[in-house]
Amino acid sequence: MTDPHRNAPEFDLIDRIRRRVRSRDDVVLGIGDDAALLKVPAGRLLVVAADTLNAGVHFPEDTAAADIGWKSLAVNLSDLAAMGAAPAWCTLSLSLPGGDPHWVDAFLDGFLELAHAHDVALIGGDTTLGPLSISVTVHGFVAPGCALRRDGARIDDDIWVSGTPGDAAGALVQWREGGPRDAVLRSRLDRPTPRLALGAALADVANACIDISDGLLADLAHVCRGSSVGARVELDRLPASDALRTAFDETHRHALQATGGDDYELCFTAAADLRDQIEAIARRTATPVARIGRIEAGEGVRAFDGQGAEWSSGRTGYQHFA
Ligand code: ADP
Ligand code: MG
Repeated sequence: MTDPHRNAPEFDLIDRIRRRVRSRDDVVLGIGDDAALLKVPAGRLLVVAADTLNAGVHFPEDTAAADIGWKSLAVNLSDLAAMGAAPAWCTLSLSLPGGDPHWVDAFLDGFLELAHAHDVALIGGDTTLGPLSISVTVHGFVAPGCALRRDGARIDDDIWVSGTPGDAAGALVQWREGGPRDAVLRSRLDRPTPRLALGAALADVANACIDISDGLLADLAHVCRGSSVGARVELDRLPASDALRTAFDETHRHALQATGGDDYELCFTAAADLRDQIEAIARRTATPVARIGRIEAGEGVRAFDGQGAEWSSGRTGYQHFA
């Protein structure tokens, strides 16, 4: 006998989604019409970002549906965090290989857990049949002139990073190698933390900011290009989690921390006389940060090991189509 819930028509799925959504006062019209109607607060810029997650490319095929839900929103909220924006709304476009309502329910468990935690309203989307792929668009607000852009880094700025980069890449290596797998590392891959409180607090403090999706050195290189400066990173200043230290030796760890993607930590630059202020922001937002280097004249990112030797790896970050 076939399960009557399998391959639910598109409209049943949309109804399942709509029933679980929490609205906000600034949503005039949410899911159900041809488009949503939204109120942007006076005196704020609308900030918009979009990211897609494809099965097997952006998450391992064995990732739980709830984790895929969390991650698909988290990577988008991370982009708003990296702009210093406060999130408000999102849309969700689902391409699903079957219309399995149980999968959609579990996906929503993770997606809505994160949405509710940050008061983000799901205000529309699209639901189609196809290979598993999730496209999310997020919308947020920032005061004019306060957004954290990639083109604001200045020579002699400190370079900072949040959290413990390398954990997500460590989990991916363990998953690929099929040996022992550390649950803490895996949770950093499956459920990244968008650093929204930190990003918002840095909005009128930091000079430039980016979130680490493709690897620290690769993403910092975007800031350098955008700002027409160079950067020097001290690898032994990169904070490493106990889990990463336990699982990988120093050489391997440095490579994961410098070039591994998927951490969604913030890398930002700020004037050196703001160190105390930034430490205070880190405490207030309960987000660990570390000073890892300095912006310098020139171009490109150079990394150095604990002995002061210049470090290089074959690649600086994940590249699609490479
Ligand atoms: P249309 O044909 O006008 O695009 P749809 O049937 O695609 O309408 O969608 C109907 C309503 O449901 C719209 O408001 C749309 O934004 C919403 N919707 C569709 N899929 C999703 C989804 N996956 N998540 C949230 N809202 C959705
Ligand atoms: Mg549609």
